[in-house]
Amino acid sequence: MTEPSEPSTIECREIAELLGDYFDGTLPGHVMELIDWHIEGCSACVAFVNTYRGTINAAAKLRDVQLPPELRERLISVLRSAR
Ligand SMILES: [Zn+2]
Repeated sequence: MTEPSEPSTIECREIAELLGDYFDGTLPGHVMELIDWHIEGCSACVAFVNTYRGTINAAAKLRDVQLPPELRERLISVLRSAR
């Protein structure tokens, strides 16, 4: 029993898996808090989140130039499956 396994902790690997839903805002509030809490204390995840945000911003800019909705949907699904 050396590994922390309480449900109140979260691992970097889980952050990576949940980040898509995190930015979609579809996660339960306590999971969002766990992720926020982890990211604050984990430089590796901060870097990962910044990279992810950059991708989101790129998609948002594409939306600003009025990408056709179905093309945007396809782009988002590609981005999400690329994790
Ligand atoms: Zn981490």
